Amino acid sequence: DQPLPPVSDAHKGPTGVIQVPSRILMGPGPANAHPRILASQSLPLLGHMHPPMFKIMDEIQDGLRYTFQTESKYTLLVSGTGHSGMEAAVSNLLEPGETIIVGNKGIWGERVVDMAGRYGAKVVDLKKQAGHGFTYDELKKAIEEHKPAVLFLCQGDSSTGVHQSLAGLGDLCHANGTLLLVDTVCTLGGVPMYADAWGVDCIYSGSQKVLGAPPGAAPFFFSERALEKVKARKTKPTSYYFDMNLVGDYWGWFNKRFYHHTGPVSTWYAMREAMALLSEEGLAASWKRHEARAAELWEGLREMGLEPFVENEAERLITVNTIKVPEGVDWAAVVKNAMDKYNVEIAGGLGPTVGKIWRVGIMGYNATPANVALVLTAFKDGLSKQGRL
Ligand code: PMP
Repeated sequence: DQPLPPVSDAHKGPTGVIQVPSRILMGPGPANAHPRILASQSLPLLGHMHPPMFKIMDEIQDGLRYTFQTESKYTLLVSGTGHSGMEAAVSNLLEPGETIIVGNKGIWGERVVDMAGRYGAKVVDLKKQAGHGFTYDELKKAIEEHKPAVLFLCQGDSSTGVHQSLAGLGDLCHANGTLLLVDTVCTLGGVPMYADAWGVDCIYSGSQKVLGAPPGAAPFFFSERALEKVKARKTKPTSYYFDMNLVGDYWGWFNKRFYHHTGPVSTWYAMREAMALLSEEGLAASWKRHEARAAELWEGLREMGLEPFVENEAERLITVNTIKVPEGVDWAAVVKNAMDKYNVEIAGGLGPTVGKIWRVGIMGYNATPANVALVLTAFKDGLSKQGRL
């Protein structure tokens, strides 16, 4: 028997209890989680196939039906962040060679273009200048020309602050044999969504924004039409982990439950609490609260002479607000001062908007008058330091 070599201590892990600063996260996400949600994550673990866990999964699915405003049986949480929802949607709804039109008006459109190409789809990259949404007529023209299998739109583009209207698009898509796929990562629960009434076929979202839970779960929805398409695929989805036939089976879509992967138990506790908090407040009340806080934010910003990046008021997103950096202002210094002095996160731009804007998130548990007032104070101070007020 050979003796074992000595254990190397060259890369020893940390010791002692983890220390984390407490910050007010008013950027594009994650937002701070509700204390009740954080507390749920310290509850004892259950086995992922234990009946009490299935009950929690059922409750989450009902909560998602409410949040998406759908009667569809096909809701669940994809185990992963918003991108996992994106990947699940793109890899299941498209077979190699099929066409997707990507409404590309920011970084999320860019990512779907990349992702759909990797799955062998024919991608029509419908580009729009940052800060603008698509009109119904632009989308109609593209759909009638390409007759795609899928149209992708991002409801709330957190890289530009644009709110894309979905009015009339469900009917338009269905008349052309197209499925309507919508990203709601930074909007779900904060702005209206009516999956059934608007004829949406697939939605993915994220846990860490308006829903007020930590990152790690992606709310997901299929219409009956979308599920039929997935069931009728000629090829299996390339990804095993995101094969929604299998994941759906785990969540009881087909009236039984098969082990697919070990659900992140504590993350689902958090999402169960997130669904409960939203049901207790009421969806319409939550939409209103977000609208009211965004109005307060803009009133204060305008008093400082700051302007929205999105010119068309009807296209302005209220959950991630984008603010033009005035000529000659050091945007990064304002961000740094906000964090150093007020412990509050304000973000700069992303993708096409880097250096041009600030981004302020008004999401979920953080959408309070006190937090909005704090952000305004931080802006005022940051601008004063540069002689701007
Ligand atoms: N879509 C949108 C609109 C987002 O805001 C984000 C996250 N910033 C994502 C997708 C990706 O989500 P995640 O970072 O949770 O994977």
